[in-house]
Amino acid sequence: MNIEQTVSAAVSNLQLGHTFTHDALVQAIQTRRQRRLIVCEVPGLNTSDGICALWFARPTDDIILHACTDSALHRQQFVLHEFAHLILGHCESEDCDTIDVLLPDIPARTRLRLLKRHDLDCDTEIAAEALADRLAAGIRGHAFAESRYSEVFG
Ligand SMILES: [Zn+2]
Repeated sequence: MNIEQTVSAAVSNLQLGHTFTHDALVQAIQTRRQRRLIVCEVPGLNTSDGICALWFARPTDDIILHACTDSALHRQQFVLHEFAHLILGHCESEDCDTIDVLLPDIPARTRLRLLKRHDLDCDTEIAAEALADRLAAGIRGHAFAESRYSEVFG
């Protein structure tokens, strides 16, 4: 399957339709993974380090930590990129990197993904970025439809 097909299949598996809200997306991911999904901003994480977001897959929940940014759009893109990894099931295999040096307090058995956005070289990163774009378009489409609705009926 090529990346385009992988992304399209992932989007239709979510069963959210063409447009959806951010909350509906979170709900769909939680249902799919049967665990809580928590998104937190980390004041110490800085985009200049090349780290925009991290995903910790724990037994009972998924935690996404993202860097501070003044741009809501950037923040959304970081978070959607990590959502995309969750949705695509990346890091379910053993070849996932664990970053002991960077985060020594995290137990070694905790699976961890580190995103370096300037390093979009492998297929998983390209697929995640493509899916993140697709999700962003779905959320934008919903917001647009809502504003059209209130223009006409509000
Ligand atoms: Zn990534």
